[in-house]
Amino acid sequence: MIPTLSIPSLVQKTGPLTEQLLLKPKTFGLGALPIAMIPDSTTNMVCGYCSTGCGLKIHIKDGQAINLTPTVDYPVNLGMACPKGWEALRVLQSEDRATMPLVRNRDDGSLREAPWSEAVKLFCDRFKDIQANHGNDSVAFISTGQIPTEEMVFLGSLAKFGMGMLHGDGNTRQCMATSVVAYKQSFGFDAPPFTYSDLEQSDALVFIGANPCIGHPILWQRVLRNKNNPALIVADPRKTETAMAATEHLAMKPKSDMSLLYGLAKVLIDLGAVDSQFVQNHTDGFEAFRNHVQNFSVLRVCDETGISAEQLTRVAQIIANSKRTSFWWTMGVNQSYQGVRTAQAIINLALMTGNIGKPGTGANSITGQCNAMGSRLFSNTTNLLGHHDFTNSMHREKVASVLDIPVERIPTQNSWAYDQIISGIESGKIRGLWVIATNTAHSWIQSTRARELLSKLDFLVVQDMYTTTQTAQLADLVLPAAGWGEKEGTFINSERRIGVIKRVSKAPGQALADFSIFRLIADAWGCGDLFSKWKKAEDVFQTMKELSRDQPCDISGIKDYSMLDQHGGIQWPWSLEDSQRDVAPQQERRLFADGHFFHSDGRAKFIFAEPQSMPEPVCSEFPFVLLTGRGSVSQWHTETRTSKSPVLRSLYPAEPYVEIHPADAIRLTIQAGQQVIVRSRRGASVVRAAVTSTVQMGQLFMPMHDAKTNLLTLEHVDPYSRQPSYKDCSVDIQSWKQNG
Ligand code: SF4
Repeated sequence: MIPTLSIPSLVQKTGPLTEQLLLKPKTFGLGALPIAMIPDSTTNMVCGYCSTGCGLKIHIKDGQAINLTPTVDYPVNLGMACPKGWEALRVLQSEDRATMPLVRNRDDGSLREAPWSEAVKLFCDRFKDIQANHGNDSVAFISTGQIPTEEMVFLGSLAKFGMGMLHGDGNTRQCMATSVVAYKQSFGFDAPPFTYSDLEQSDALVFIGANPCIGHPILWQRVLRNKNNPALIVADPRKTETAMAATEHLAMKPKSDMSLLYGLAKVLIDLGAVDSQFVQNHTDGFEAFRNHVQNFSVLRVCDETGISAEQLTRVAQIIANSKRTSFWWTMGVNQSYQGVRTAQAIINLALMTGNIGKPGTGANSITGQCNAMGSRLFSNTTNLLGHHDFTNSMHREKVASVLDIPVERIPTQNSWAYDQIISGIESGKIRGLWVIATNTAHSWIQSTRARELLSKLDFLVVQDMYTTTQTAQLADLVLPAAGWGEKEGTFINSERRIGVIKRVSKAPGQALADFSIFRLIADAWGCGDLFSKWKKAEDVFQTMKELSRDQPCDISGIKDYSMLDQHGGIQWPWSLEDSQRDVAPQQERRLFADGHFFHSDGRAKFIFAEPQSMPEPVCSEFPFVLLTGRGSVSQWHTETRTSKSPVLRSLYPAEPYVEIHPADAIRLTIQAGQQVIVRSRRGASVVRAAVTSTVQMGQLFMPMHDAKTNLLTLEHVDPYSRQPSYKDCSVDIQSWKQNG
C-alpha cells in the first residue's frame, strides 16, 4: 500500500512552495519572477554548466534575480566568464520548461498534465509492479553530472537503499569514467592532482585530446596569463582552436595517442630525462615500463602516428628541458576504446619526469560537467557513497552507520555501467528506467539503437527541466524539475573545489527541486523514514562530510555552506584535523607534494599495454574516419539549455555541419555550404559541408551537439572504464544533390 503523500510537510519545509504548488502551471518571464527570496543585494554562486566552476555574482532586486556578473575575487575565474555563464539566468526562461507532471495517455499516446500526487503514485505503482514481477534489479536509473552533490546522494540512496535498485549509472560515464579508472589504478584513488594556477606556472603545457579554447575557455584564459612564455604542445588529429595557438601541434592519426606517448617516453629515456630519484622513491613498475617502450622505436612511432621523427624528438627535448611541465587531457583521451591505458600513458610521462606534486606540473584530467566530480565521489553508482566500495563489508558498515540505516539495505555488488543498462533493456532484464537530467536518446552513442530500446521499456520516467528533450518525448511520465539557480547545493569542479549554488529564482509552475522530488518519492514509496534527517540540501552536506571521513577526499573540516562561500570554495581534502591545524584552507592546493600516493604502499604505478587498432577501420565503402567533439563555446551538450538563449544561438552556425578537408571536397565535388550526406553502417545524416583544413585528408569532424551526429557513431567502450568511444567510426560522405 502506498502511504499518503507528504506534500503538506514538504510545503512547510520549503516555504515558498506552498504558493508554487497551488499556482496554475505557468512559465515566468525573467522580469516577472514572483517572490522575494533574498533581499536586494548580490550573492555569489558557481556556474551550472561546465567543470571549470566559475564564480558568478547574482544581482537581486525586489526579490528577483535580474542579472549576473563574474565574481572578481573567485580563485577560479578571476572576474571572467564565457558566454554560457553570462547567459545562465536567461535559459531558465523558456516556453518548453516542464511546469507540471505529465502522464502519457495509453489510448492515444499524448501527454497530459497531472497533479504531483497522481504522478508520484503512478511512479511508485509502476516501478513496484515491475519489481514484483521481474525482480528489484529490473528497474534502474540514469543520473547526471548536472545536479548538486546533495541531490546525487539522495537519489543514489533512495534508489539503492530505499527502492532496492541494483543498477544505476550517470551520464558522467560518457565523459570521465576513463579518468576515474586511470587515476584509481595509477594513484590508488580518483585524485586529479592539480590546481588551476598550475596552468599559469608551467614552462611547458602538453594538451592531449583537449581543446580548452572552446571546451574550457576560462582555463584557456588562465594559460594566456602564464608569464613564463611557456611552450604549448597540442596532440590532436584536428587543427583545433587550441592547436592553432600551439608551439608544436602533433597532428597524429586518430587513435594513435598511445604509440605517440610511448614513443615520447622512449625518447625521454634516451635523452636521460628520467627523474630517477622520484621514480625510485615514489613509484612502482618503471623498469617494466622502460622495457615496454623500447618497442616504440622512432621509426615505428612515426609510421603509426604520422608524426615526423624531427617533431617527436623536438617535443621530447622541450619536455626534457622544461623545469615544470604539466600534462592535460579531456575527451580526446577519455572517449576512446583504449582510454584508460592512454590516460595512464600520460600519467607515466608525468611520473617518470617527476612532474607531479609541484607547481606547474601534473597529469591532469579536466572533466566536463559542472558536477561530474561530485558524481565521481557521491552518486552511489560506480562507487558506494564517499568513494567507497560496494563489495567491501567494512565500507558497507561505515556507510550504513553514517546514514543510520540497516546494512542489509546496501547492495553487495556493483552496478551495471550505462552501456550494460542499455543492453539490459535489449535482453529484457531492465524493464523500468528513471532518467534524471540527461538526454539519453540524443547523447548516447549509436543513438538510434538507444531510442529504440528506450521505446521498448515497460515504464520510462524522465525528470528534467524541459519537456522537449528527445528522451522526454519518449517518456511515460515526465517529472518537472527546477534547474541551477532555482535550488541549493554544492558542485565540485575539476580541481576538486567545492562551491555553492543557491536559489535565486523561482522554478516555473509546479516544477520542484530534484531534492524535493526525491523526498516526495521516498515518502510515497514508504522509505522516507530512512532519510528523515535530510530536510534540506545542507543536511545532506553534513552527511557527506561524515561519509568522506578518512578517505582521501575527506571534507569533514568544512563546517558549512557559509564557510565555502567565505573561502571562495574549498578544494578537497579538508579534514577535521586540517581545520584544527590551520587557520584557513589555502585557496590553491595540489596533491602529492610529499610524493605519497594513495596505494597501500604509497607508490604510484606505471601501467601500460599494447595499443589496439580501431575496431571499425576505414574501407572502400566507408573511407573516412569521423571525429566528434565540441562545436563552439556557446553550445552545451545536447543544447537543451543553450539553444534557449538568442545570444548563444547567434554565436554558432544555424545548421549542423561536417568539416571536410579541401582536397577531399575537390575530389568529391563538394562545395562549401552545400548539403552532404554522411553515412555510417548505422545511419545517415544530411548536414552542411564546411570545407576546411582543420581536418586532415580522410577525416571528417561533426560537433556532438546536434542529434544527427550520434545517429552515425559506433557503440563500443573502453574495457576498464566502459566509457564509450565516440571519435573513431568509419563513414562515407557524398554530395546530397547527387543522392537527391
Ligand atoms: S567556463 Fe564553464 S563554469 Fe565558467 S562561465 Fe563558462 S560554462 Fe560557466
